[in-house]
Amino acid sequence: MNGTGCNSIHTAKKMHCMNQGNRNSKSATSFDALPDEIVVTVIAAVAASAVAPADLASAFLTCKRFWTLGKSRHVRNKVSHLGLAVRARNWSLHADRFLQSCAEAGNIDARYLLGMIRFYCISDRNAGADLLLSAAFGGLKEAIYSLAVIVFNGSGGTRESRDIGAAVALCARAASLGHVDALRELGFCIHDGYGVARSVPDGRRLIVLAKAREMAEAATGSASLSGFTPLKKQDVASRFMVEWAERRRAENKEGADRDAPHEGGPSDGQLRMCANKLCGREETRGREFRRCSVCASVHYCSRACQARDWIQSHKANCAQEQAL
Ligand SMILES: [Zn+2]
Ligand SMILES: [Zn+2]
Repeated sequence: MNGTGCNSIHTAKKMHCMNQGNRNSKSATSFDALPDEIVVTVIAAVAASAVAPADLASAFLTCKRFWTLGKSRHVRNKVSHLGLAVRARNWSLHADRFLQSCAEAGNIDARYLLGMIRFYCISDRNAGADLLLSAAFGGLKEAIYSLAVIVFNGSGGTRESRDIGAAVALCARAASLGHVDALRELGFCIHDGYGVARSVPDGRRLIVLAKAREMAEAATGSASLSGFTPLKKQDVASRFMVEWAERRRAENKEGADRDAPHEGGPSDGQLRMCANKLCGREETRGREFRRCSVCASVHYCSRACQARDWIQSHKANCAQEQAL
């Protein structure tokens, strides 16, 4: 837990203790006298600085008043992406309703996370896409990039429903807001003339810029004084999707073992996970993702994921080296 989240929760608990102390001494109940608006402001501050869902639970369970006021739209609107970061193992109707209530309160981080879960994990494509759209209209760069990946691949539709030009435009928008993967994807598109006019120097320049920003972000994370590097918004969604897929594989292991045709992975009719182990996206139809053009044994949802995985592991495993 970081300092901010901790302090906010302590403030909330301090208010509650003050209330208890006043009750015990039968003096004026200053806590009870506080208007709801002020208490809601305090709870919203806790929600905005939460670094885990447990922070919210801890605050909401402080007293009945916190529990009741914690359901207000203002509080749900302010919950941080880390406060929303439910794990796949904890997914339940209650967790679904909580994210839904935050999304309905206008929380664009909740719309993004729930949109990704609905689209990729629960296969409720329309509801997921609607949530991602609303988060994108709210200016969330992670949602804009996720829509770009969906439009690039025609996810949830047919191969013919792909719209490369629209996907490039979405990448450009997300890149302009500082999304590194979108910048890298845009660089590859311009470099290759894919959905946009070709310019090798401009494409290369964007790819190098994306790499530089990625390195700068990594350096900032490792230089954290507290040693605590909070998950980014897209990492929260990816963690859920990766864990969801792992749990589903474990549950279906017996059947999967029986059906597995060979060691090389799924057959053409089966749906593949993106080979970037930190991504978590799964195909929505057979042969949706692009494959490594050298070994053809791994598949990726995007060039950005392919570039990341190339550095992290595939470079050592591929049939021969391929400069990306
Ligand atoms: Zn991917
Ligand atoms: Zn390969």
